[in-house]
Amino acid sequence: MLYRKFPKIPDLEISALGLGCMRLPTTGDDSAAIDEAGATAILGAALDSGVNYVDTAWPYHKEQSEPWLGRAMRDLGCRDSLQLATKAPTWLVKESGDWERFLSQQLERLKTTRIDFYLLHALNGARWKTVLDTGGLEFLARARADGRIGHAGFSFHDSLGVFKRIIDGWTDCEFCQVQYNYLDEGFQAGGEGIAYAADRAVGVIVMEPLRGGILARVPDGVRSIFGGYRTPRMPAEWALRHVLDRQEVVTVLSGMGNAGQLYENAAVASSAQPNSMTGPERAVIDQARDHLVSRMAAPCTACGYCSPCPSGVNIVDTFGMWNEAAMFGTVDENRRQYRSGLQARGNGAQACVECGQCVPKCPQGIDIPARLKEAHSTLG
Ligand code: SF4
Ligand code: SF4
Repeated sequence: MLYRKFPKIPDLEISALGLGCMRLPTTGDDSAAIDEAGATAILGAALDSGVNYVDTAWPYHKEQSEPWLGRAMRDLGCRDSLQLATKAPTWLVKESGDWERFLSQQLERLKTTRIDFYLLHALNGARWKTVLDTGGLEFLARARADGRIGHAGFSFHDSLGVFKRIIDGWTDCEFCQVQYNYLDEGFQAGGEGIAYAADRAVGVIVMEPLRGGILARVPDGVRSIFGGYRTPRMPAEWALRHVLDRQEVVTVLSGMGNAGQLYENAAVASSAQPNSMTGPERAVIDQARDHLVSRMAAPCTACGYCSPCPSGVNIVDTFGMWNEAAMFGTVDENRRQYRSGLQARGNGAQACVECGQCVPKCPQGIDIPARLKEAHSTLG
């Protein structure tokens, strides 16, 4: 295993692969029913492989991920071998006392007295305002001072502009966690956000390096691009290598469904040095990205300039699901996701009243209302 360091935490070596506890194996369809033996075997394999960073959060597996991890660390006796990360559920915070309440419960769930890395979970513009209005930063400073948390940072889901605002407005921030993979260079914080954070000595943790696992299940066209390279590599390895090539990235979190996947990813993280990809390797990644982009149903870059829609249509996610279906051939999966999510909540394309307000805002020139109709006829 290779190890890297956060710029503001120079004494600590962090494994280049971290274990994410959001997609643990389950015994059935209910995500709350964690297969404890299977999940604990994954944690054991992580320790075996030199992984020393493990990441969970309040809501994962319907709030069962933290309690499982607490039990698993106790059973394996490994708490002191790990850097433990979890996150404050920012969307549930209504008043200043909530911060203390959630942290106390999380310490209990995790059977520990200290969270090494504590994140404000899934920050966006509105939640950042809540953090500031409810004394969230003061709470973090208190919890750091009394040792209940070691280091403070945030995970992020919003536009690049909001990301920069948070980085600029929180000078004590030690690290951030962003979605990044070879297909999502410009998505949310994206590659530019990673560089922006690193320039300000904020360490970067990457989540979704395989885009929820789908970059391990690429279409045949991408497989043959990868197959044309002289060294045989699985699609997941290409995706991980691309992320680990960035020197700003300290660790990459991956949710691994079994110990075998963990060992495979650990092998990659044991050899992928920063800035080590060659020109021909980067060209392979570029070709794979171009191929996927050429299959998109609408040329939406998820920039979000068209939002918010006055009728509540979630344009970005609707096009995101439609594009994923087209790029990866996962129509059934995306249809289920759309119907049970956006459409059921009334934020799908069916809510579009064709007012046209979003159209001039789109830098890609997409006829948004017309394309939403097509998306809905595929997914709805
Ligand atoms: S055209 Fe449709 S999606 Fe665009 S702003 Fe109007 S209602 Fe929203
Ligand atoms: S539809 Fe256009 S404006 Fe909206 S997110 Fe996509 S590219 Fe950006």
